[in-house]
Amino acid sequence: MWNEIHLTNMDSEISRRSFIGSSAALITSFGFDLRPAAAASRELKISRTTQTQSVCPYCAVGCSVIIHTLGDKAKNVKPAVVYIEGDTASPINRGTLCPKGASLKEFVACDRRLTQPLYRAPGATEWKPMKWEEALTRMARLIKDSRDRGFQAKDEQGRTVNRLTNVGMIGGCTDTNEVNYLLGKFRFGLGIVPYENQARL
Ligand code: SF4
Repeated sequence: MWNEIHLTNMDSEISRRSFIGSSAALITSFGFDLRPAAAASRELKISRTTQTQSVCPYCAVGCSVIIHTLGDKAKNVKPAVVYIEGDTASPINRGTLCPKGASLKEFVACDRRLTQPLYRAPGATEWKPMKWEEALTRMARLIKDSRDRGFQAKDEQGRTVNRLTNVGMIGGCTDTNEVNYLLGKFRFGLGIVPYENQARL
């Protein structure tokens, strides 16, 4: 309501965007400085939280984030992510996040978020929940069967190639160096040739 009143009374020197985007404009328009309140609000959100460093999962920029979790040191309390912010120590984003990264808390806390594997059988139209153990066993079985069918020890000219071209791997932008190291071991151990990753590794 305040914003609407002030915007209606202002002349065209200041646009709605610049009015909202400029903290200096907010100070002069309302006559008081909102920045301490914003800082205090942040402090309230993160007091007593545990901080975990992570990476935004949305794109290949890989901005670093700090996840604030509340309740993970108290008995009988389910930990909850209460705040996620950019990591100021990161040389990649220096504490900033784009709108997608800034909405990460809603992504983490979304009640529609998948927390277990879903399986759609051949020809079926519906996805059904599957236990992790069952899913991992099934994946291992299918990978082994595919490898047995497709592994080539020698090429057409008799040269040793030890390759597997009927299985491919894709990676994600937030795969860390450590994850990629392990993926590399897994991939080369099986002889997998096709590989794609947003980071173009
Ligand atoms: S915050 Fe935005 S720019 Fe950074 S990784 Fe996430 S989606 Fe990409």
